[in-house]
Amino acid sequence: MTILRVALDVPVDETFDYRGEAAHRQDIGRLLVVPFGSRQRVGVLVGVADTTSVPAAKLRAPLRVLSHLPPIPQDILDLLTFCSRYYHHPLGPTVLGCLPTALRRTTALPVTRSLWYRLTDAGRQVAADGLPRRAARQQALLTELQQAGALSLDALREMPSGRRFLTRWLADGWVEAVPAEDVPAAVASGVHAPVGHSPTLNAGQREALSAIRAQGSGFATHLLHGVTGSGKTEVYLQLMADQAATGRQSLLLVPEINLTPQLQARVAERFGRDRVVALHSGLSEGERLQRWLRAVSGEASVVLGTRLAVFTPMPRLGLIVVDEEHDPSFKQQEGLRYHARDVAVFRAREADVPVVLGSATPSLETWRHAADRKYHLLRLPDRAVAAAAPPVLRLVDTRSLAGHDPLSGAVLEAVEARLSRGEQSLVFLNRRGYAPTLYCHACGWVAPCNRCSARLTVHLASRRLRCHYCGHDERVPVQCPSCGNQDLLPVGQGTQRIEATLAERFPAARIARVDRDTTRNKDAFDQLRERVTHDELDILVGTQMLAKGHDFPRLTLVAVLGIDAALFAPDFRAEERLFSLMLQVIGRAGRADLPGDALIQTTLPTHPFFAELLSQDYAAFADRQLRVREQSGFPPYSHQAVLRAEGNDEHPVFEFLRAAAVAARAMALPVIVHDPVPAWIARLAGRWRGQVLIQSEARGPLQALLRDWTPGLTSTRVRWSVDVDPNEL
Ligand code: ADP
Ligand code: ZN
Ligand code: ZN
Repeated sequence: MTILRVALDVPVDETFDYRGEAAHRQDIGRLLVVPFGSRQRVGVLVGVADTTSVPAAKLRAPLRVLSHLPPIPQDILDLLTFCSRYYHHPLGPTVLGCLPTALRRTTALPVTRSLWYRLTDAGRQVAADGLPRRAARQQALLTELQQAGALSLDALREMPSGRRFLTRWLADGWVEAVPAEDVPAAVASGVHAPVGHSPTLNAGQREALSAIRAQGSGFATHLLHGVTGSGKTEVYLQLMADQAATGRQSLLLVPEINLTPQLQARVAERFGRDRVVALHSGLSEGERLQRWLRAVSGEASVVLGTRLAVFTPMPRLGLIVVDEEHDPSFKQQEGLRYHARDVAVFRAREADVPVVLGSATPSLETWRHAADRKYHLLRLPDRAVAAAAPPVLRLVDTRSLAGHDPLSGAVLEAVEARLSRGEQSLVFLNRRGYAPTLYCHACGWVAPCNRCSARLTVHLASRRLRCHYCGHDERVPVQCPSCGNQDLLPVGQGTQRIEATLAERFPAARIARVDRDTTRNKDAFDQLRERVTHDELDILVGTQMLAKGHDFPRLTLVAVLGIDAALFAPDFRAEERLFSLMLQVIGRAGRADLPGDALIQTTLPTHPFFAELLSQDYAAFADRQLRVREQSGFPPYSHQAVLRAEGNDEHPVFEFLRAAAVAARAMALPVIVHDPVPAWIARLAGRWRGQVLIQSEARGPLQALLRDWTPGLTSTRVRWSVDVDPNEL
């Protein structure tokens, strides 16, 4: 008897057995359509067996094997199985959730090779003669088409106006469709020399490159530490070119916000458009499937993608790169709560290929591995192009500022100076790590938890202070326990208040506010960028959205407000995130010809954070943070998991969590099980939310606890989930 073990997208942690035939033993990894209840579902054949506990009468046969689709290779099935176990998410939803959605439909989209185009004789003539200068864009595209031999519709679509030109040229007889059977010859996979030219590397880049190459083609983890603009991407491109030259594929993972058309163009220019597949969340189902198939076939030399791309099957994988490895967006916050950087390192080890992590501000987890020599640290100390002089940083002590006045005199003066010179200012308000912490403006006291090293959080409605970690709870004091000041305020300011203050002070200035309220859609944000670029704005007031990736050449002042709260946020990662953000924001100011200033308002000018920030010394910052983490036993010196629960009523949520905590403690493992606490946002959309944090010095006992504990957790009135290595508590 041949029993098929099929993973289905059903939220139970087991596979489903079907009656198969001997021939099915070849089909492991294939997608199948199977009967499930009265419906049909798509599943993945993850294994075969000789026996089953399902009675023969109940055993059903699959309806069909989707053999026109490539099977999920064994290495990816193993990777998904590992993730399912490690993150304690059922196997079926893990496997199916990591495939392109188009594959999960019982009526799968037809798989066509995408269409390809090449120049006709007439087209080649035009390309050779050259187009008028105003048609530079068309000319560039023609030249590229000529050099590549043929381009896919996918590739043409991604080029500016590519679609429009294609239509026109088809009508003019300059291009023709390439017969599908000619395509493999035109872009045969295999050994391939990069097409674009690379700049001459500087000493730092050469050193990093040869150090990485010296480690060979097997598994090793490298950390490439260098500020934005230090030439990290150039190093990745060279390493990926090494791979392409020997017929191997590279996986380049980036945070969503960094997967810009500029980066895609840069990679495409180096490798040829049809050698690069970009996978991100903005694709239609059909597009994603087509691109995924090109990665799976081995045709793509480079797969460039956001977190989900870490699961892309690549038959000739030779290298993985994770750019901005510290970026929180690598952590998936629902379903399979994986961290794409961690999965990437695991995948590289299993595949026995090198993995390169790049960042200006590496995560402390990564930094610690580098300090322990588990990762191989390489530095790019200087900017690759010495265009922008780093801005001059200055702290503005706002302790004497009245508690209600958001902007200091120093900042107002600096803005005024920009206005008179026709330059632009950015007033940046930090909202990240924002927590209503109780704070004394007179002496700088903040409410500490006396049971753990965290800060207490104000819950104004109940007039109580709570520890977000251990559950300690007390009344809001009427006066500062340290100096007696009775004017204790929760820290925090809004962008609207700041905009209003600026408008009042500078009535003639053109001011724009940029936050989630004003730029809900992408168009609004693009328009704003246009206005800044065309000098139609004098002052920008904004939050995180303005931190990275935009070049504003006339911006010469960055004023940073509201970061003190993040320095005593209850989230122990707040300071780490803040440092990273600050380096980015400050980098917005100034160009070669227009030097910039950065002013940072704070009531804590003596906090060591600022000395490290002013000297832009990430190593000093990271080393101090690691000492703090070690003393308080926080990650990376311990491992955490959170059990989260939510429900329509408060009582069942906390009953569930209390019972869960009792059960966890009963297992008597070397794991700390904290008391249930309300979630950070205790009530969201009418639902009550709570959580239990568990923590252990070693991963083993934590995993052992989760393995035995979670199957016993059941509730009909509460929805719950487990988050391993949570990024946020
Ligand atoms: P990062 O990835 O660290 O931000 P990039 O590799 O993008 O840095 O380099 C920043 C800029 O410097 C890019 O415009 C890049 O083309 C350029 N660049 C990088 N390395 C060199 C080099 N060796 N010579 C000249 N320009 C370089
Ligand atoms: Zn506490
Ligand atoms: Zn005080």
